[in-house]
Amino acid sequence: MTDTTRREVLGWLAGLGAAAVLAPGRASASVGVTALRGVTLVDSAGTRPNATIVLADNKILAVGSCDLPLPRGSTVLDLPGKFVIPGLWDMHVHGAYMDRITLPLCLVNGVTGIREMWGLPPIYALRERIERGEVLGPRLIVGSTIIDGPHSTLPGALIVATPDEGRQAVRDAKTQGADFVKVYSYLDRATLAAIADECSVQDITFAGHCSDHVALGDASDLGQRTFEHMYGLPLATSTQETHLRQAIADLPLDPANSFAWFRQVLEFERRATLWHSRSKAVQLAKRLRRNGSALCPTMVAMRVYSSPADRFANDPRMRYMPAFYRDFWRDGLKNWAPVTPQEIREQAEFLKRRMEQVAEMHDHGVEILVGTDAGNPYVFSGFSVHDELELLVDAGLSPAAALRAGTRNSAIKPGEAANLVVLDGHPLTNIRNTQRIHTVLTRGRTLGPAERQQMLADVEKAAQEPVPAAAVACC
Ligand SMILES: [Zn+2]
Ligand SMILES: [Zn+2]
Repeated sequence: MTDTTRREVLGWLAGLGAAAVLAPGRASASVGVTALRGVTLVDSAGTRPNATIVLADNKILAVGSCDLPLPRGSTVLDLPGKFVIPGLWDMHVHGAYMDRITLPLCLVNGVTGIREMWGLPPIYALRERIERGEVLGPRLIVGSTIIDGPHSTLPGALIVATPDEGRQAVRDAKTQGADFVKVYSYLDRATLAAIADECSVQDITFAGHCSDHVALGDASDLGQRTFEHMYGLPLATSTQETHLRQAIADLPLDPANSFAWFRQVLEFERRATLWHSRSKAVQLAKRLRRNGSALCPTMVAMRVYSSPADRFANDPRMRYMPAFYRDFWRDGLKNWAPVTPQEIREQAEFLKRRMEQVAEMHDHGVEILVGTDAGNPYVFSGFSVHDELELLVDAGLSPAAALRAGTRNSAIKPGEAANLVVLDGHPLTNIRNTQRIHTVLTRGRTLGPAERQQMLADVEKAAQEPVPAAAVACC
């Protein structure tokens, strides 16, 4: 451990002509300084070989060339031939409350920030415990409970039957500590508009599914910040949109079997992709860009739902999942998975066309976010972020664009939080190299190969223990 003082670090920064980006404190207090030397930086600003990054107090203090002078007492990690990217973000996660599984799996995989899409009071408390340093975990952004209505295909969703109830749900979310409001598939336009208006009154954003009763561009105009799972995109870019929207409006919903309704809507979306309009896509992209709306396609989850039920069942990463997930995931897929050869082919083509639509939106400047929907069948906390990066490249994004999507466009520069991932291979040569993790730095910790291995072993052990009867939240 270093014995550098704050005074010395500030003097060193002044000598560099750099800003004093250091947490306030006594001048004589000791500061732990770490330097990563000889690395290639890969971030939204580009690629810089032979770089040195200096960190302290979980902040990046300086970035320079490999001969950058260092403060006395720095812990120097010489890492020639390694690549450093900003910490990854999974922007669509469930199950943060399983703190001994979800949190370490994220960190081991270089995921230093997650957006939890189904907020519950214990997760708001966990977010604070992580920030206070009582629990080691990624940064959490936590949604409200899922708001839907007047019906929902999702058991457990908060049902709002009127615009006023929608407003109340927003106020309650704010009071409880949600970072954003999560909206769902069945909301009508008037209720969504009320939610949007109340969100702006309460100064909170809203995000989630594109309602099947509101066109994606209209929801974006109302201020919806992100759209999940590519829902609504095929309809909004189809020459058959008017006709298919009418079909959805006319579709009866049996409250006893609301899933059948959801499935039929998805079938209309599949048909919509057969009549794709480039010019509608360009117009939609313009609106999304203007409104600052992003797409979080969760391709890795959609791939599971589009595949035969057993395709991913033997994934070796199952050993990190709670034992009850085995049955839970297998049963969860029963209603979804294609069975006949024709269904399997149709679903594979449907997935491919939706992925192409995401790439098309990206080509026209729409922000894409990496999200996995971890907690859904065969989607693994942390690990699946790397699968999603690969799928984005398969869809047509460049590795650099996929990486920007996975890091929320962050740059490695002074003043930023020191969330960094050291890789053994160049991620822009092959996006799969994000999986070759050497070390993860976050919250002042250096998680090297041995620490990461130990964390995985601990997760494997925790996965064998019975999980408390907390709600199992998905979608
Ligand atoms: Zn969802
Ligand atoms: Zn979800």
